Amino acid sequence: MLFDRLIRNGIVVDPAIGEIPLDIGIVEGKIAALMAPGVELAAREVTEASGRHVFPGLIDAHVHFGFGEPVTEYTTETVYAAQGGFTTVLGYFLNNEPYGGVFERELALAEPRAHVDFGFHFSTASEAHIDELDEYVREYGVTSFKYFMNFKGEEGRYLGLDGTDDGYLYALLEKAASLGDVTIVLHTENIELVNRFRREAQAAGKNTLRDWCLSKPAFTEAESCVRAMMFAEHLGAKIYIPHLSSRMALDEVRRWRDRYDNIFVETCPHYLTHTLDSDIGGIGKANPPFRTADDVDALWEGLADGSIDVVASDHVPRKRATKEKPIWQASQGFPGTATILPVLLDQGYHQGRLSLTRIAELLCLAPAAIFGLPDKGRIAMGMDADLTLVDLERDRVVRAEELGSYSDYSLYDGWSFKGWPVETIVRGLPVMRDGVIVGPGGHGRYLPRQA
Ligand SMILES: [Zn+2]
Repeated sequence: MLFDRLIRNGIVVDPAIGEIPLDIGIVEGKIAALMAPGVELAAREVTEASGRHVFPGLIDAHVHFGFGEPVTEYTTETVYAAQGGFTTVLGYFLNNEPYGGVFERELALAEPRAHVDFGFHFSTASEAHIDELDEYVREYGVTSFKYFMNFKGEEGRYLGLDGTDDGYLYALLEKAASLGDVTIVLHTENIELVNRFRREAQAAGKNTLRDWCLSKPAFTEAESCVRAMMFAEHLGAKIYIPHLSSRMALDEVRRWRDRYDNIFVETCPHYLTHTLDSDIGGIGKANPPFRTADDVDALWEGLADGSIDVVASDHVPRKRATKEKPIWQASQGFPGTATILPVLLDQGYHQGRLSLTRIAELLCLAPAAIFGLPDKGRIAMGMDADLTLVDLERDRVVRAEELGSYSDYSLYDGWSFKGWPVETIVRGLPVMRDGVIVGPGGHGRYLPRQA
């Protein structure tokens, strides 16, 4: 057999088979052979991977589209993803109107530009979205939908969204459950409590990052998670709790899974590295907010013991200037895809908190399984040849200007991490090598999914 590409002498890291030296033969973008190293095989191209660990291509299940430069963001943000070792990104859209026009417009923008494969999640906010849910699944291959439990009253108005209520959530989960393997992603936050705490803080003239964080205490997340899980159980719906940030919420998830297990949980790198006392002002404004050192410990424990399923970035590619404002006006979120793996390798693997195969579960196997990507997430025969070559010993300082995002900063600027992706291969084609983009825009494909 003549392979299109042979990846030789690397150590494969796969959740099902562990860490094992294997050569990988690729034909037409698929994994066509896995062999003990040393066999002489014919290939058009050879990637020498000695000293490298070869992960399944990483999947960032939580990025935001629509916050960067509208047309070029599919270039800049997929370059940035490839630099971070990611071969697939799943991006959220937020819209009050029906999604037909949005889907076609965004697909037309993304297809000629994307460097990595991509899929979409739609945020649901209007009655039309519930009415059309089956059409989104059938026509567009979108099988995951976000609902903001906090967008009550005026809270979502800054994003152009009408307020909704628990009746809406009920109807959404009921519809989703009727359609098969459809995932409802729930932003869990009791905004009625937050509104009161925020008013009090502002009236008292409080204006630090810590004040922002304390206006959204862990209870406001945990209580909302309980309600989300109770709704899901009652209606038989599959839910996914993104960006879980607190020990209190995680403990509630553990409790509820004993009686209903169609619940999946994500956390983000920044909740593993920052606390409410991080001295970075508006740069650190996120929702949910940074929490205590004890919460950080709880999340690492949750990653290790399996109660957290996925790590994703919640990547928001805005400029630094939108963050350098008084805390109540600063924008929320930050760029993050490219630094996920270094955070997990440096602070997780090298600190003895996570094995490499556990990292491959969190970044590859679990997001592929939860979000319906059957060709992704594993190094196995017949799977897409999405591969991330990693140098566990590479030390590198994060400098946003070396990364391709539209954003001009990183939460980790100046931090040194040990363990970096050095090559990203999407369906057999190298797209990043040593931080430099080597493949063409437009190689990335849209990933329609099935319920
Ligand atoms: Zn988000």
